[in-house]
Amino acid sequence: SSIFAAVEMAPRDPILGLNEAFNADTRPTKVNLGVGVYYDDNGKIPLLAAVKAAEKVRLEAMPPRGYQPIEGPAAYTLAVQNLLFGADSALTAAGRVVTAEALGGTGALKIGADFLKRLNADAKVYISNPSWENHRALFESAGFIVENYPYYDAATRGVNFEAMKAFLLGLDAGSVIVLHACCHNPTGADMSDAQWAEVVDACRSRGLVPFLDMAYQGFADGIEPDAVAVRLFSASGLQFFVSSSFSKSFSLYGERVGALSIVTESKEESARVLSQLKRVIRTNYSNPPIHGGAVVAAVLSSPELRQQWEDELAGMRERIRAMRVALVEAIQAQGVAQDFSFVIKQRGMFSYTGLTVAQVERLKEEFGIYAVSTGRICLAALNSKNIGYVAEAIAKVVK
Ligand code: PMP
Repeated sequence: SSIFAAVEMAPRDPILGLNEAFNADTRPTKVNLGVGVYYDDNGKIPLLAAVKAAEKVRLEAMPPRGYQPIEGPAAYTLAVQNLLFGADSALTAAGRVVTAEALGGTGALKIGADFLKRLNADAKVYISNPSWENHRALFESAGFIVENYPYYDAATRGVNFEAMKAFLLGLDAGSVIVLHACCHNPTGADMSDAQWAEVVDACRSRGLVPFLDMAYQGFADGIEPDAVAVRLFSASGLQFFVSSSFSKSFSLYGERVGALSIVTESKEESARVLSQLKRVIRTNYSNPPIHGGAVVAAVLSSPELRQQWEDELAGMRERIRAMRVALVEAIQAQGVAQDFSFVIKQRGMFSYTGLTVAQVERLKEEFGIYAVSTGRICLAALNSKNIGYVAEAIAKVVK
């Protein structure tokens, strides 16, 4: 018999399953709010003008396709550090940040997890309740036991900070704590700057290993304000990890452009850490692909293209904000008594709407509007054409 005879069918990815159902739906008014991608007002994934300009230059230059350094080219890793830690970072100046290009934010989490496993095989990993589903799977597949820390508070639709803090203060030294640096996925509920400072204190007093996941820099308030968590940890003197991604901020999803940065105690320590991280990368995929990172580095190192990118990023951020406000107003205009104003306070691409499983099901069955069964919707899938229809449908299912 086949060597695969005993292979069982893996459970379907719930969000991909949603996409399949959406694609099979023949209603012309259908709307997919289940995605994790930014769409423009025409419902298209944008190709940023700054990206297009950098790609044109690359295409004309027809560069050779040799292997890259294992950790990616310096032009790219320095550009990443500049965004995360700031142009005037004392840490980067002191050689205390190790950065390696990675295959998107997912790849960064994976090489970070593999490296951590070699560092401390017995550590437990804690992710927020709830979190991006892949956090658990990634750290489990690296061999860790993964548990949740309290985070979302359904009553306030914000962060249950007291519960979170109390939990962190009870953890064992060496525990890895995965934190969404901004634009929490799936809830849209972020901590305040003051709460971040308390998280830094908790990590210090308990000897925790912070792992910041920055997948949406620039989608909440802007590039600099969205880096506040990284900056607070940078000022703390602690060692920590940051996974980052250009999938959303450059609209380069399929190019797989991200990075892992590790803050160490000294330049000498950085050299040792980098040498081990390179071994992890070497045995996974050897070295990163060229194109996406080259485009990002070209945009970020040209003052004109960088300005253009920042303007385009601001455009995406502002459009999402406008959709939040418009959705709340349109639902209210339908005479719904329930207060949806929390949607305006939530940040990033997503909102936990509080819609029940049954209400999400009705949206799908009656209206062809697809959302995640947890009630998560992607605000960036709303646009001036579909928002009225979505608001009417939501009003009907909540009344
Ligand atoms: N972390 C979080 C919280 C995310 O939401 C995502 C993307 N959905 C990622 C990491 C991974 O992003 P990438 O597509 O760059 O792998």
